[in-house]
Amino acid sequence: MTSRRTADRAVGPRRTCVGCGREAGKAELVRIAAPGAHDAAAPRIAVLDRDGRLGGRGAYLCRSAEHERPQADCFDAAVRRGAFARALRARVTLDLKLVESIGR
Ligand SMILES: [Zn+2]
Repeated sequence: MTSRRTADRAVGPRRTCVGCGREAGKAELVRIAAPGAHDAAAPRIAVLDRDGRLGGRGAYLCRSAEHERPQADCFDAAVRRGAFARALRARVTLDLKLVESIGR
């Protein structure tokens, strides 16, 4: 009998960063959500969903190593590609606090 180790540990659901496309466990990512009316035409504000409590669809980004915020590179790439609107299936405006939290 072989004692083959399972490469995949039980780390919970894997999510894909909408910026760089990396797949990772939820602990390595931050969630962006845009709660609001179920009216696809109404613009919504995309905010950092710290506790993962906001309903609806979520967009995931790689988490910055030392802060509860997205990595700047992934955030920028997601903005450039319009990935938030695609992932959240809505017209979204990014929350100013979120944008400012990225810093440079
Ligand atoms: Zn990423």
